[in-house]
Amino acid sequence: MTAQPLLEVRGLRKAFAASTGLFGRGPLVRAVDGVDLDLAAGEVLGLVGESGSGKTTLGRAILRLVEPDDGAIRFDGVDVRALRGRELRRLRRRMQIVFQDPTSALNPRLRVRALVGEPLLVHGLARGRALRDRVAELLEEVGLEPSAMDRYPREFSGGQRQRIGIARALALRPDFVVLDEPVSSLDVSIQAQIVNLLVELQRRHRVAYLFIAHDLALVAHLADRVAVMYLGRVVEQAATRTILDRPAHPYTRALIAATPPPDPRRARARRMPIPGEIPSPIDRPAGCAFHPRCPWADARCREQDPPLVAVAEGHLAACHRADEVQSESFDATDSGRPPLHRPTAKPSTARPDTTPGKETDR
Ligand code: SF4
Repeated sequence: MTAQPLLEVRGLRKAFAASTGLFGRGPLVRAVDGVDLDLAAGEVLGLVGESGSGKTTLGRAILRLVEPDDGAIRFDGVDVRALRGRELRRLRRRMQIVFQDPTSALNPRLRVRALVGEPLLVHGLARGRALRDRVAELLEEVGLEPSAMDRYPREFSGGQRQRIGIARALALRPDFVVLDEPVSSLDVSIQAQIVNLLVELQRRHRVAYLFIAHDLALVAHLADRVAVMYLGRVVEQAATRTILDRPAHPYTRALIAATPPPDPRRARARRMPIPGEIPSPIDRPAGCAFHPRCPWADARCREQDPPLVAVAEGHLAACHRADEVQSESFDATDSGRPPLHRPTAKPSTARPDTTPGKETDR
């Protein structure tokens, strides 16, 4: 990345004490274990990895929704970790999040008008008639009727609730949004509609996204670059096309091979599950943490932890054998490579029916 980063993350760490029931704090779970990331203004960075890789904790630590233990976060040149109180709240106007589960993310006792308008009210940006107009505008922008503002979250489908969550996140016109698995709790039929909406909004507002997902195919639709996380660390990072065509880390190859191909009739034949389970972050394997599952592992891998280094311009990988991995032919098609083309989302002029109880996602 050549542009001055909007977001710079260096050596970020976050550990939690594992619960041991009656006896309180247990050993430390290193959820995020020294992560470096850059994100340019208007860029989309995909963050992928299996459950337990630390993706969600990283996204929340960047926003300080969980307090990092160590490391630096700079946003537009500002030291985010040094901010307190009002200064931090002011910066949060520019840094927002869309949560995975829209049902638990929205207060069920508030009408949509209050849910979407709250950030504007809290930051003193609109009130009265202007607030109502702005909420109506935001709802239209995410494909909902302005009349939706008088209803409660329970009156909407899952996809519609996520649209409300997106409207709330965009209310303050942020420069950066963490999308924390924003479609993984939705029906497959609805997922593409929400992804298309996110693409359309990103293009319109040039907002930067950190798009967190375990599905590489989904990330490939939106992301300019992809970072792959394993056991709390980034193990590979490159442009999306490079990650898909010339992965340098065996874990990335395994993730691609585990991705169902776009044609569901071929899914059973082509999908290759990643062998083994992700180890516990309490008991990180010595050497390369991926070695117990890696078909390329040798003696050095069991002893030495590989650093994240450049294997080409703009392409980082943490693997002792990255050169060999890259040079071995990789038939991405046979491995179920996800399609790279972005969906050509066009705003629909049709108004969705927001009748309570109806599934009206487009
Ligand atoms: Fe596999 Fe060794 Fe590379 Fe780790 S360092 S990913 S074990 S080849």
